[in-house]
Amino acid sequence: MISKYIKNYIIYFIISYTLVFGIIFLISYNFFINDFISLEKIQNKSNIKTFLNNINNDLKNLKNITEDYSKWDDAYTFIEGKNEEFIYENFREGSGTLGNLNIDTIIYLNFKNKVTYSTYSNKNLEDKKKNFESFLINKFKEKQNLDTIINYDSTFLYFSKKEIQKSDRTGDSRGYLITIKSLNDIFFDKSYTIFKDIKINNEKTLTNDLKLDLSTLKNVKIKFDTTSNKIINYIQFFDYNDKYIISIIVSNPRDIVNNGEETIYMFNLIVSIILFLFFLFFFKNQYLIQTQNDTLNKEVEKRTGQLDKALRKVNDKNKELYTLANIDSLTKIRNRRCFFIDSNQALKKVIKNKETLCILMIDIDNFKSVNDTYGHAIGDEVLIKLSAIVNSVIDDETIFGRIGGEEFCITFYNKSLDEVTNISQEIRNKCANTLIEINNYKFKFTVSMGLSCNGNLTDIDKILNKSDELLYEAKKSGKNRLVRVNRLNI
Ligand code: GH3
Ligand code: MG
Ligand code: MG
Repeated sequence: MISKYIKNYIIYFIISYTLVFGIIFLISYNFFINDFISLEKIQNKSNIKTFLNNINNDLKNLKNITEDYSKWDDAYTFIEGKNEEFIYENFREGSGTLGNLNIDTIIYLNFKNKVTYSTYSNKNLEDKKKNFESFLINKFKEKQNLDTIINYDSTFLYFSKKEIQKSDRTGDSRGYLITIKSLNDIFFDKSYTIFKDIKINNEKTLTNDLKLDLSTLKNVKIKFDTTSNKIINYIQFFDYNDKYIISIIVSNPRDIVNNGEETIYMFNLIVSIILFLFFLFFFKNQYLIQTQNDTLNKEVEKRTGQLDKALRKVNDKNKELYTLANIDSLTKIRNRRCFFIDSNQALKKVIKNKETLCILMIDIDNFKSVNDTYGHAIGDEVLIKLSAIVNSVIDDETIFGRIGGEEFCITFYNKSLDEVTNISQEIRNKCANTLIEINNYKFKFTVSMGLSCNGNLTDIDKILNKSDELLYEAKKSGKNRLVRVNRLNI
């Protein structure tokens, strides 16, 4: 019994716990993860902006330097061909200036397209300087001042071109100062890069999620890809004509989402433990209640059984008491007390309904001598026999009782005098014709009867007295006979 409960509770426990925890897990994950993803997106955008701002600052620096040096009178006299030492002192190898300024090269260009370069700190450019310089002259000879990105032979460069002007207010100019910086170096400068992975990519992506205008760059478009376990950003750079030049791909692990997932798992772990304890407590209590209920039920069943038994005993006792109070122990018919109670009730009914009630009194003839001749026990048998004869003749409505030693009474309810007379005679005849055979004794017995009816009488005793008187008459006139009133109303 108990093990069956435990088994049931374990099954309920597992099912409900799994269900509730599963729902909480799904809800919590879906509910929180979107927040972490949007945080990740915000963070990614801000990273991109920081990254591009850093590049912009580098380029701005280059632009400012170019502007400053283009107003330098020494640069003006140099481009006029009067100060040949200038470039050796300032921008050639040994001066260290280019390294300090973080510039790849400085080129001087006069209006006759004569190029004078300082030096190339970028090895890649140094190797192809001749072609590169004529490329610059051809491509940008029309323009005056210019800052833009160029793609030279798959080398991506930022350059700033400024007119060299004399600082006396004439604004006289003889050529240009061009400073160049390789973008590759800026992109891969680890000192400010927040991205783990940066690659140069020449494939132009078509759509963009974000467009940034920086003071040094004409147009930068950005596309985010957050579908993989990394965040990937395609950053596209365009030149002063809005012509696509280069893309770089920067990527980062999805730290916030990863941390978020860890947080959700921690949260769910704590929730699962709390839930487990709660369910355990709940089911343990349920189990306790159930077992207590069972014990209680058993106790109640036991008590009910005991009560039923006690009740049956009381009923039996009641029946016994009833029998003792109402039934004659020898003949098993009504005793005197019961006969009077029932007859009184019948009389009330008769008076109320204006009906008839007759009382027949029976006394065994010479009963004393029966006792004397055959013994008291055989006398008892005669009493029993008489009762059986009467019971075989009367119906259920008729009240039959033993009111004294060998005296019996019958109350007939709502029967005609003739009917009652017939029944009485039948009883008397049956008695007279019944042969008693006990212990080798054979004898017959007779009864005398007195029959009267209620008439105007409203008291059972009075009717009974009347019947007694008539019985006396029967005895006196020879016994074994019935003496009755002549009519109902006497
Ligand atoms: P009578 O014809 O005039 O009625 O004569 P009787 O002998 O019947 O006269 P009586 O009524 O005086 O006698 C009644 C006798 O019934 C007396 C008593 O011994 C006997 N008796 C009374 N009760 C019982 C009983 O319960 N059992 C037996 N066996 N005899 C009883
Ligand atoms: Mg008598
Ligand atoms: Mg008698």
